[in-house]
Amino acid sequence: MRHFLTALVCVFFLSPLAQAAPGAVRCGKLLDVRSGQMLTDQVVLFDGTGTITSVGPASSTKIPSGMTAINLSSATCLPGLIDVHTHLTGDPTSSGYASLGISVPRETVTGVKNARLTVRAGFTTVRNVGARSFTDVALRDGIDAGEVEGPRMRVSGPPLGITGGHCDENLLPSEYSFKAEGVADGPWAARAKVREVIKYGADVIKICASGGVLSKGDQPGTPQYTLEEMQAIAEEAHKLGRKVAAHAHGTQSIKDAIRAGIDSIEHSSLIDGEGIALAKQHGTYLVFDIYNDDFILQEGAKAGMLAESIEKEKKIGRLQRENFRHAFQAGAKMAFGTDSGVYPHGDNAKQFAKMIEWGMKPLDAIQAATINAADLVGWPDKIGALETGHYADLIAVDGDPLSDVRVLEAVKFVMKGGAVVRKDSDTK
Ligand SMILES: [Zn+2]
Repeated sequence: MRHFLTALVCVFFLSPLAQAAPGAVRCGKLLDVRSGQMLTDQVVLFDGTGTITSVGPASSTKIPSGMTAINLSSATCLPGLIDVHTHLTGDPTSSGYASLGISVPRETVTGVKNARLTVRAGFTTVRNVGARSFTDVALRDGIDAGEVEGPRMRVSGPPLGITGGHCDENLLPSEYSFKAEGVADGPWAARAKVREVIKYGADVIKICASGGVLSKGDQPGTPQYTLEEMQAIAEEAHKLGRKVAAHAHGTQSIKDAIRAGIDSIEHSSLIDGEGIALAKQHGTYLVFDIYNDDFILQEGAKAGMLAESIEKEKKIGRLQRENFRHAFQAGAKMAFGTDSGVYPHGDNAKQFAKMIEWGMKPLDAIQAATINAADLVGWPDKIGALETGHYADLIAVDGDPLSDVRVLEAVKFVMKGGAVVRKDSDTK
């Protein structure tokens, strides 16, 4: 009886969104993101589970009878892009005091809108690091169930932080006695909070190691979590099979987080030579969100960001970009993360041009958003490359991203797990 009911429920809730079926895509050009080789006239075959079964030259690939390949012969195909630092349930307009008027259910609806914008911009996987009340868990599950259009999501739920820190809520006076859900002071309270967010669905743990830009009353360079607290968090999270992403602008916090065994440093703004060397030694990923500075400075005040936030960004924006160049030149591991939600969702690819401006070659930036990001997210054999056994997550653009990375800002075709998400009418 129970099985019958389950089957019935499944039938009734079958998604209106595109479903995967076996298929093929023919690509005029296809970028092998590992080698940087631009292959010509390739066919990607995938099965009914949306998994790639072969990638090879059209001349030697047999397309099963009755199957018509999607024709992208005038386009360049790449694996779906990955953004390892998003906030899909937030918008720039919900910054500062405006954020206090937004309910948790309303935030989830915002996430539905932004998930669609993000996947249609070619980002077929995101790591969402920080959302209130597990709105990101709900969004992830809705997407996985086929009810909502959006990228694959790895989510953190509420970020962990100290009382009064960047991950607390400091806008209200004491008579409201309000603190953010992720506040946990001391190693054991922090361990308990790791267990709690995992209980409610977190795939990854997000913490605030230092002060931040958009929070009230703290400084980006100031340490918040101690080394001891972060060691406890990293140990607990790793034991339970989760990685930890640490928001850290400050020089000392970055080093403490790396020494504590944190897996990725978010923002990394004031990292120094010793921090870069430590990151290399520990294999820690650095995630520099170097696009949104422009948005904060130009649009932040209109979006309701606090005056102190704009001042903070003015102080660290340029330093962060210079340190991005230092870290890249030193050979640190880097993954593509943008802090979407600070700037409008769907503009994620605008960060590629900034990465080129500050020292990378287009292939380096594309690798940061594909194979490197896939490694950090924990799915190196599933996403980030067009290879047998990977999900058929594929995007197509006009032109050559290796000579002009900005073509990634205008994605023409998006497929996720073998299901077409976007196919512009001018895509042949
Ligand atoms: Zn963030």
